[in-house]
Amino acid sequence: MDELKVINPNVTRKSREALSHGFAVWPTLEYGLPPAMGDFRWTEELILSTWHMAGTGRPPENGLEYRVGRSGGGFDVLDFKFLPQEQWTPETKPISLAIPLNRRGEGREIEISVPFYGGGMSYGSVSEQVMVARAKAAEAWNTFTCTGEGGYPPGLVPYKHRVITQVATGMFGVREETIQYAPIVEFKYAQGAKPGLGGHLLGDKTTATVAAIRESVPWVSLFSPFPFHSVYSVEDHRKHVDWIKTVNPAALVSVKVSTPHDVDMVAVGSYYAGAHIIHLDGSYGGTGAAPEIAKKNIAMPVEFAIPKVHGYLESEGIRDEVTLIASGGVRTADDMAKAIALGADGCVIGTGDLVALGCTRCSNCERGRGCPFGLTTTDPELQLLVDPEWGMERISNYYNALSVQLEDILRRLGLTSIGELRGRRDLLVYKGE
Ligand code: SF4
Repeated sequence: MDELKVINPNVTRKSREALSHGFAVWPTLEYGLPPAMGDFRWTEELILSTWHMAGTGRPPENGLEYRVGRSGGGFDVLDFKFLPQEQWTPETKPISLAIPLNRRGEGREIEISVPFYGGGMSYGSVSEQVMVARAKAAEAWNTFTCTGEGGYPPGLVPYKHRVITQVATGMFGVREETIQYAPIVEFKYAQGAKPGLGGHLLGDKTTATVAAIRESVPWVSLFSPFPFHSVYSVEDHRKHVDWIKTVNPAALVSVKVSTPHDVDMVAVGSYYAGAHIIHLDGSYGGTGAAPEIAKKNIAMPVEFAIPKVHGYLESEGIRDEVTLIASGGVRTADDMAKAIALGADGCVIGTGDLVALGCTRCSNCERGRGCPFGLTTTDPELQLLVDPEWGMERISNYYNALSVQLEDILRRLGLTSIGELRGRRDLLVYKGE
């Protein structure tokens, strides 16, 4: 365990030094890999390559795997049908990665420069420092981050034009002012990593500050029930959307759902209730706090849900009036491009941001002082391991590497914009048995 002695406040300074030398590695690598590193989906190599990207802004060029994991399923068994080199899009042609988030033809127009934004991780599940680092990176990349359902810590307010306010079943910290801040409000009806279960913040993470922002009691476990007990129909959902539009008429509305077998009907109903964004959250994501039994056994794999919803929206004639966003295990640029080829417009990243900040996937996220890197903690000392400015650099570099790879994938497919890739299942091949 000697190598873990370097996990202390000097980490920030040491990583800055590593960054300036052009190779991004957690300082523990000087002493060998940390224990409990990775899993079959986030393999050691994917974690190392993400750290490299977070330090250099480029994918690794030393043979380290950075495209797929070893899950034996999901995005890992899909590949691209790249064209012969002479048919690639020439380097002289610009490639657009931008996507619009409002396709309804009315209301506020919002375009993000990259086909991804940061997903909800609540204050309480992660620290305020992590949330601010993600917001700063979103600012740098003309994209968004999301509050999750833990309320709005004060450090986020200066970035409110880059922050999606989430309204979820626990209604923790949901206030008129935080809805009015938001360019986009997200209703979280379910989370792909724990569909049908809701959320659970253990008492030892509910510090006085967390409790104050969540309008709760310190050191008491907090449950977000499933489902929203005020929503059992499209009409109920419409009332929710009307509530948001009354409080903040300019806000776009996103609806985050997991992937039950009738998710296509849910998506169409959400559109008719007024949603601008349908956010499908598959089961491969979640922090280490999400129960494995839920991740592995409930709901449809996201790679099935995306084409199902895309096709149904097309058959209803409304596909181009709604933005379809996919999340849940989107780790790499390859995952993102595959999700888009299956029918999504863009993706949401969650765990990838944490890995860029040093996460090793050790699965201790639910405990108050369980995260050795100060990410999924609200402990006042431990959270100081992350300097938001350093975190912004790491996440920005990771986003840069993702963008470089997405452009490369589009060039090899002979395309010039990410929008041209949407729904192009003919450009994918199944690698399985
Ligand atoms: S406890 Fe920290 S390092 Fe471990 S999986 Fe959670 S975020 Fe990652």
